[in-house]
Amino acid sequence: MASDQTDYYSVLGVARDATPEEIKKAYRRLARQLHPDVNPDEEERFKEVTKAYEVLSDPQKRELHDLGGDPFSTGGGFGSGFGFSDIMDAFFGGGGGGRGPRPRHRRGQDALIRVDIDLAEATFGVTRDLQVDTAVTCPTCSGAGARPGTSPRVCEVCQGRGEVQQVTRSFLGQVMTSRPCAACQGFGSVIPDPCHECGGDGRVRSRRSLTVKIPPGVDTGTRIQLTGEGEAGPGGGPAGDLFVEIVERPHALFRRQGDDLHCTVSVPMTAAALGTSVSLETLDGPRTVDLRPGTQSGQAVTMGDLGVTHLRSPGRGQLVVHVEVVTPTRLDADQEDLLRKLAAARGEDGPDVGVVNGQQQGFFNRLRDAFNQR
Ligand SMILES: [Zn+2]
Ligand SMILES: [Zn+2]
Repeated sequence: MASDQTDYYSVLGVARDATPEEIKKAYRRLARQLHPDVNPDEEERFKEVTKAYEVLSDPQKRELHDLGGDPFSTGGGFGSGFGFSDIMDAFFGGGGGGRGPRPRHRRGQDALIRVDIDLAEATFGVTRDLQVDTAVTCPTCSGAGARPGTSPRVCEVCQGRGEVQQVTRSFLGQVMTSRPCAACQGFGSVIPDPCHECGGDGRVRSRRSLTVKIPPGVDTGTRIQLTGEGEAGPGGGPAGDLFVEIVERPHALFRRQGDDLHCTVSVPMTAAALGTSVSLETLDGPRTVDLRPGTQSGQAVTMGDLGVTHLRSPGRGQLVVHVEVVTPTRLDADQEDLLRKLAAARGEDGPDVGVVNGQQQGFFNRLRDAFNQR
């Protein structure tokens, strides 16, 4: 037996080879002595003793206990017909029924609706009219659930307590158990004449219009909480909240990374060499991107304050314009002649004008420098 495991034999004060009759006798004696009605301070010990009895009175659980196992980890698989929780419920009222009737009115559930917006709306904010399908408080009975002119009456079965008590005889004497009243589902009252519109639930489904203000800076996954605009609660209870979840549609030109926007412009080789300007339609209207002479493919021009508005801080992200230099693929005879002349003038018309880049470039340069120094 594991050392940290409770020895139920010593809890009951019986020998390990005690007969079922001896175990029952020992439990009966201890239970009378520790019973919460007699001895409220001994509640914990009473539970422990009862637990020990539950194990040792069941041959299978007893065997498991003798082997060092935990009979309570195996769930309710062993049916002794008189479970531990039943015993506890009997003495301590149990969790199941609770005390007193449960209220008919409860808070409604939260609701979620998704809204598609475009990048400009995410950047500048937008006001949207939404159609929302939720439960609303029944207009006919105002949530009471009873047909107008009638009212709920006290449940006759439980006299309004919402639970019924049952007296069970056991070898411990009479034990009282309480369960939710089946006649009124624990409400303590019944609606004899339910509202024809809601069937007694106090709410109906309805489509309604709602205006939501989407602030600048939202992104896919951002949720806007509209308090009290969710599902109405049953029995006229308060409504839950409505969450509006943003889904941003992809933009034709701009890729969003956080609050920065990225795009790519393609410029001809000649324009990249000579310098040029590119007009670009941004979210804020047309802007000119200036490319210096000698702009390389892969370079980027950063334009501040043309990105998405920050949601939780002032200011906006950047617009990053990536440059792609396009090499001409078709040249006519004149163009080819011009390019060959340019190449010759620049000394770029032979083989080996290209340079291998990468980590080894520095190594070869150092090697060459070393040779040249000799
Ligand atoms: Zn109604
Ligand atoms: Zn009842």
